[in-house]
Amino acid sequence: MKKIKLLLVFTLITGFICCQSTVLVEQELLPVLSKQEQLEHLYTTKVMPLFKSYDNVEIPTEFVVDKKDKTINAGASFGYVSVSQGLIDSEKEAIQLFVLAHEVAHIVTISQAIIFDLGTEIPAGTNVNPYQKAELLADLMAVHLMLIHEPAMKTTLEGDFPYLKALLGGGGFTHPSGETRIDFMRQYLKLATHTTPVDAFYDSFGNIWNL
Ligand SMILES: [Zn+2]
Repeated sequence: MKKIKLLLVFTLITGFICCQSTVLVEQELLPVLSKQEQLEHLYTTKVMPLFKSYDNVEIPTEFVVDKKDKTINAGASFGYVSVSQGLIDSEKEAIQLFVLAHEVAHIVTISQAIIFDLGTEIPAGTNVNPYQKAELLADLMAVHLMLIHEPAMKTTLEGDFPYLKALLGGGGFTHPSGETRIDFMRQYLKLATHTTPVDAFYDSFGNIWNL
């Protein structure tokens, strides 16, 4: 019995030491990432996977940085994502994730509309023009995909909504105001809790499309 106890203690100690050395080795191997590398890592590990079901669309993989732009800004085109230095420097990871997801969502909006059998062109609305609808749809897709695949980040984003609203500002011809954009996202999130995220996404997408 004593032998078994001794053996157990020995195993625990050696096991602990073994784990410790593994942790140390892992720490030594972890590279220190710059802020830009951290954003690229976020994009590769958390944003790109959100869109993996849109396999007929090429999701951009390259990053282009506008170092002079200290505001939080981004854009996406086929092949690359452009980001401002301000977005790289932001300490709010959920905002970074949302902004990047919104940009990629623009690229897959028509694919999603085709899936929902809505056509291939955002229709002109009576009160909301197609540019503004495109923004609302990209917001919706970003927040929906975050809710499904990154729920903790979605919760953080909701906490950051007042900040995001101020960031998005008063809007203009092509962009609805921050207030309107946040309202639409809140409506979707509320509907998602009453029905399901998938049903709420379908309804909200159609509503915006036909505004
Ligand atoms: Zn946009």
